[in-house]
Amino acid sequence: MESPVCTETFPIDGCVKSTSKKSKTSRSVESDIESLYKAVPQLAKTFRIIDKIGEGTFSSVYLGEARMRDGSRDMFALKHLIPISHPTRIAAELQCLTVVGGRENVMGVEYCFRKEDHVVIVMPYMEHQAIVDVIGLLSFEEVRLYIYHLLKALRHIHQFGVIHRDIKPNNFLYNRKAKTFALVDFGLAQGTADTQIKLLKDLLGIRKAQRPVFSERNLNSCTSAASTTKQANKTESVRPGDLSNRRFPSARGGPASVRTQKHQRTAQQTFTCSCFQTDRVCNVCLARKQQVAPRAGTPGFRAPEVLTKCPNQGTAIDVWSAGVILLSLLSGRYPFFKASDDMIALAQIMTIRGSRETGRAAKAFGKAVLCSRELPRLDLRELCETLRGRRPLPDDEVPPVTDGKDTGKDGTGKTPAPLPKDQDPTPGEKPWCWHDEQGWDRVPDEAYDLLDRLLDLNPNSRITAALALQHPLFKGL
Ligand code: ADP
Ligand code: MG
Ligand code: ZN
Repeated sequence: MESPVCTETFPIDGCVKSTSKKSKTSRSVESDIESLYKAVPQLAKTFRIIDKIGEGTFSSVYLGEARMRDGSRDMFALKHLIPISHPTRIAAELQCLTVVGGRENVMGVEYCFRKEDHVVIVMPYMEHQAIVDVIGLLSFEEVRLYIYHLLKALRHIHQFGVIHRDIKPNNFLYNRKAKTFALVDFGLAQGTADTQIKLLKDLLGIRKAQRPVFSERNLNSCTSAASTTKQANKTESVRPGDLSNRRFPSARGGPASVRTQKHQRTAQQTFTCSCFQTDRVCNVCLARKQQVAPRAGTPGFRAPEVLTKCPNQGTAIDVWSAGVILLSLLSGRYPFFKASDDMIALAQIMTIRGSRETGRAAKAFGKAVLCSRELPRLDLRELCETLRGRRPLPDDEVPPVTDGKDTGKDGTGKTPAPLPKDQDPTPGEKPWCWHDEQGWDRVPDEAYDLLDRLLDLNPNSRITAALALQHPLFKGL
């Protein structure tokens, strides 16, 4: 790519869309742009910052235009990282983009500007659509292509020993018309034990030094520890063995769960845990020391081993998130899992994948997961077709049963009853198997087979991105 010339200096103001009646939002965008020019003045020599296109907890992303040496104008995405980000964290994000990015559906980087603690990463701008805006329009073929390209990006970064940790549609840019894809946002990335990204290795060292406060995104910020610790305590999971030999009488008379030997004694001396088999977390459990394990990312996309704070997490966590995306795309529902905390997210996973199955998988990675009622594993095709409205609900009149008594498949009120394939629709009624231009009447079994393998509850048997790309679903791509 041509490099931009720095001869033109754009004024700090007057560079955003100028309308006489500016809305409050556009005014606040303008003032953000002004602040950015002030914080990193050298940007003004190269870029005309046009708009703000993304804002998260740890960065703001702007659209900037630069005049190139050949006289043409190019668009760039300028990611301004919050100044309190850890320097190694910033450098690691940049190294991921420079070493791994720029190919295989992974966003690359063009320049980086820094003034004092302000860092701006400049990437080629990729026009894209938000998944919520297109999910209802996508054909099955488009979904197949989307997931293929996402897996390609994952295979590529995983080859370098990079775990992205925040795979979700917002971080996988999609241009529907141009059929282009780009994985962005290495702000939470971590390295595998043998990662080729040196700074991700360094990050592991920092993590060890900062162990007590490592949860969520606290390596990104020097101030987030307090709030995330509180959050982490709330979602404590129970280790196997913790439930044996427990004799704490609880309000409901059930055994109590306590995490460590040391803690058990403390608890016995002072308090009694009363949350076992309830949907609450009691004060005794809230007061426990948190278990330390990385759990960055967005709850609805977190793998079971992340939700239960398994200390050994690998590239398989990204594959799980890709599975959640595929589930979303096949069912036409986004977001699919909407959870405010880890235990809710885990309960939602259990309603789809089964509580017994979740418990069994958790045992395999050293965790005990208990569910107060048995939730059957759902058939993925039935689930997706029902949510797409291609199958009637089991009984439209009956609302989902939520009294907790029913444990049978029908009692959950969530398992759609399969309709006989040859059933003729009553005249005037919408047939559940009507022809669909978008191919949703012809989704092959391979799609649900791949979905089942991506959403394998056990990270040890979960398919890898490299193997998933060889799945029969992608024949011909
Ligand atoms: P954050 O860490 O704040 O989530 P991201 O790197 O995910 O930052 O960027 C936030 C948003 O900015 C993205 O969801 C996307 O909409 C937009 N964005 C980021 N990089 C680019 C890019 N290279 N081209 C176009 N848009 C981008
Ligand atoms: Mg992001
Ligand atoms: Zn408790």
